[in-house]
Amino acid sequence: DSTGAPRLPRLTVIGTGYLGATHAVCMAELGYEVLGVDVDPGKIELLRAGQVPFFEPGLPELLVKAQESGRLHFTTSLAEAAEFGDIHFVCVGTPQQPGSYAADLRYVEGAVTELARHLNRRALVVGKSTVPVGTAARLAELVRTTAPAGDAVELAWNPEFLREGFAVEDTLHPDRLVFGTESAWAEEQLRAAFAPVIAQGTPVVVADLPTAELVKVAANSFLATKISYINAMAEVCEATGADVHRLAEALAYDDRIGGRFLKPGLGFGGGCLPKDIRAFIHRAEELDVAQAVAFLREVDAINQRRRARTVDLVRELVGGDLAGKKVAALGAAFKPNSDDIRDAPALDVAATLHRAGARVTVYDPVAMDNARRVHPELDYGTDALQTAADADVVVLLTEWTQFREIDPEAMGSVVSRRRVVDGRHALDPAQWRAAGWEYRALGRN
Ligand code: NAD
Repeated sequence: DSTGAPRLPRLTVIGTGYLGATHAVCMAELGYEVLGVDVDPGKIELLRAGQVPFFEPGLPELLVKAQESGRLHFTTSLAEAAEFGDIHFVCVGTPQQPGSYAADLRYVEGAVTELARHLNRRALVVGKSTVPVGTAARLAELVRTTAPAGDAVELAWNPEFLREGFAVEDTLHPDRLVFGTESAWAEEQLRAAFAPVIAQGTPVVVADLPTAELVKVAANSFLATKISYINAMAEVCEATGADVHRLAEALAYDDRIGGRFLKPGLGFGGGCLPKDIRAFIHRAEELDVAQAVAFLREVDAINQRRRARTVDLVRELVGGDLAGKKVAALGAAFKPNSDDIRDAPALDVAATLHRAGARVTVYDPVAMDNARRVHPELDYGTDALQTAADADVVVLLTEWTQFREIDPEAMGSVVSRRRVVDGRHALDPAQWRAAGWEYRALGRN
């Protein structure tokens, strides 16, 4: 072009779920021309109409802005994507296989194979999905042998660290970028694809493919371990009369430890941490290094025990038998600011209480439709107070701000008995007790 400025690479984003839709919108926001691709025509239709198919703060506004700029489009055709893009980001799901700890790689393999079939010029395929170490090397070979352009098509890995609820901020201003590459050309392409982010001073770690894949699972394993560590301390606290909330507060002042992810409670869930640590355990067994990550089995077990213990607390509080008891379950999403209910501790607890004979009514500010789809057997409320009407016990399961701010007097006036289990250490026990509530929380006597 006449200005001499290099043309920005054209990007495609394959898989427009939580990760891909965010990535596509944010890359368009950064000035790139982006084509988002999904096999789900319903999702593509919504996105084309300017609607984000899930809850993510800030994303709907940026989607509309990107579409108005003319830089963001959507399709269901991988052939069109291959024609359009210089760099193809693969953001499809890698869920846990039913009946196994292993990750289900069929979507990644399917998307990459189908894309590669159409790649007849130089291009870079970049995996962003979380995969077992070793997958990228296999896919690199697959791409080279499948693409009509052969060796002119390369594969790189760029693991994603965004948090649901903060996905836009995390994508536009990440803590770091990790580029797993097999050539200087691939690194150059990735630097071009993230130029505005790198220009902000974001650190870039360049590594080989297996290291890049491992960074993601290692990070999630560490975070899961931190949560289960403080929850293990909660178990010890319950046995000794100590208070895990105070314990965590005191530990957090040591900046070698730090307070983030050191929050005791119902534990982790969602579409990432649980399946990622299990896939890591499985992969380590295949690699004959099972012992190196054996502790992750304990991390998972501690986390599952939190759910069972929460059910026990509710049972204890209602006098030992849940049958016929009315339970108000506040929260369904796996964490606040998200409508994601994949492996959500909140819904797990609600469903277990229901199976034990309780009459459970669930309320969540944004995850109701998703929850209803997966748990049609539960009742659903219209707001926190209405859900608590005539309840024998209130259980806080997701720490939404609006639940933290509940007035114990107001809620006390609608329940049948003032009993609350605070599964997330989100309420002030002194305030609730002063309002006449029996207050119980994990790891707090
Ligand atoms: P998701 O289920 O929300 O989205 C996956 C999308 O891929 C779906 O819309 C699906 O229809 C689409 N898809 C499946 N096969 C396809 C194909 N062949 N071609 C095009 N589209 C296809 O999943 P997600 O939460 O966005 O996660 C995607 C990946 O990103 C996973 O590996 C996950 O571990 C990783 N990740 C997710 C997050 C997160 O916070 N959600 C963060 C970091 C990494």
